[in-house]
Amino acid sequence: MVLNEVGKALPTHGRRLEKDIMCMTTSLLRVDALPPDDLARIRNQGADDFGNQLVAMIVDSAGGTPLRCCLREARVGEQVALIAYQPSRVGGPYAEVGPVFIHAAACAGYAAPDRYPDDFRSRRQLLRAYGADGGIVDATIVENGDQAEEACAAFLARPAVAYIHSRNVLHGCYMFTVRRPA
Ligand SMILES: [Zn+2]
Repeated sequence: MVLNEVGKALPTHGRRLEKDIMCMTTSLLRVDALPPDDLARIRNQGADDFGNQLVAMIVDSAGGTPLRCCLREARVGEQVALIAYQPSRVGGPYAEVGPVFIHAAACAGYAAPDRYPDDFRSRRQLLRAYGADGGIVDATIVENGDQAEEACAAFLARPAVAYIHSRNVLHGCYMFTVRRPA
């Protein structure tokens, strides 16, 4: 019976396989926004960890304010703050401090840590792969989210790589961390 339906059966099988592969691909990554405990501490103290006051600003144009708390673009009218942040918890000479936008007040955070953030898919990004000691193991530039997922999977397949930072290509600003799923 199936043989007479080969033309229909094969595409169905193909779609199922494709879906399985997509699930496997997304489950290879864990995307970390700024940790909620860091955000709570900074908002409560009214200043970042480097003494800069938390100053709320209202976003007046869309598309240029990527939020590292929720991993999406800020919308017009939202209150955000620009803070200095050190994303590495390992410390050491490679632990850079740089500017990141966050919601000025408590927010929902990033709800899909098994997925590359949709609002960042069109961004050209610098990916830096770090070892467990916080040193840089390797780096590459990706043109979009599809390339980023492939590059992250390749980096994370290397035992020397513990985590990856996605950063802006020109300014180097930190966006988020990619790890192996827990
Ligand atoms: Zn937020």
